[in-house]
Amino acid sequence: MDRLTAETKIAELTKRIERHNRLYYEEDRPEISDQEYDQLVRDLQELEAKFPDLAKEDSPTRRVGGQPLPFFEKVVHKTPMLSLGNAFSEEDLRDFDRRVRQAVGNQTVRYVGELKIDGLAVSLRYDNGVFVQGATRGDGTTGEDITQNLRTIRSIPLRLTRPVSLEVRGEAYMSKGAFERLNKEREEKGEALFANPRNSAAGSLRQLDPKIAASRQLDTFIYGIGELQGETVESHSEGLALLEELGFAVNPERRVFDNIDDVIAFIASWTEKRPSLPYEIDGMVIKVDSYAQQEELGFTAKSPRWAIAYKFPAEEAVTVLEGIEVSV
Ligand code: NAD
Repeated sequence: MDRLTAETKIAELTKRIERHNRLYYEEDRPEISDQEYDQLVRDLQELEAKFPDLAKEDSPTRRVGGQPLPFFEKVVHKTPMLSLGNAFSEEDLRDFDRRVRQAVGNQTVRYVGELKIDGLAVSLRYDNGVFVQGATRGDGTTGEDITQNLRTIRSIPLRLTRPVSLEVRGEAYMSKGAFERLNKEREEKGEALFANPRNSAAGSLRQLDPKIAASRQLDTFIYGIGELQGETVESHSEGLALLEELGFAVNPERRVFDNIDDVIAFIASWTEKRPSLPYEIDGMVIKVDSYAQQEELGFTAKSPRWAIAYKFPAEEAVTVLEGIEVSV
């Protein structure tokens, strides 16, 4: 492709992706599937890699999420809430493992494998064990203050089991059952239906009236620590155990591995078991366990180098991971 064509194509893809970002992150009404969206982003990434000088500073490949809605108070995240790099194949996962091991000088690397819950990222802040503020991710730097809505979610402790001051990150989601009940009710009332549980969770939490969120049966899984005072943890798996001890809902399906082959087998098993879960997942997240190694690896503008999200193919597609053919 010549430079001029690439320039036009980059501008066109950027415009399309920005439109879909707005629909998805700000209006909670996507028009295309996540797989179609991911393909647009990959096309843009490939062109930017071929013509690096045409890649804009504010390209959607370098930015997180969407703009926070103006009618909420803004919350500036002390530690940015980033996105995750994506893997779509076994080869992508092996490349990730190679990059990680190379960056840490070929030390042993342990990975934590987790389900990627399909909901909305939230940040929860506690002062001396008391829940004081909850926010959306927004554009990663600035989110929306949705404390009153988050207070209505039963799995979010209003007081922790110890008077710890910390900020945690997790996913607020709606179970498949709650989503079906909600859409049935809306259908009966002649109201517009939600496209999927993710959008209905996001739409419910970005309502000005907390009674609406309270009626929506939302839930959470907490998967990380943004800031922690007065306690020390050395690894992500220890951090998750601490979060559980403090009273947060932490997904029980997490596992620690000491090689990428076992991570790949774990992903293959969940590709198959995924429909049996009572909530939706759109992939699996793999994180380097050691905080010291995480620090060594650092971040790109958009995502940590110590984690990757494996995205499941579209439901009807067939994938081959670890030599096992799985229909999903
Ligand atoms: P992402 O979904 O690729 O990954 C980051 C997010 O994963 C985190 O912010 C967090 O909310 C979530 N997550 C869930 N479980 C987690 C766990 N165990 N550990 C860590 N994080 C976990 O990145 P993104 O920037 O949030 O969104 C991009 C994705 O959103 C796209 O790949 C696409 O699938 C979807 N999207 C779709 C459209 C559309 O029009 N259909 C538009 C924009 C974005």
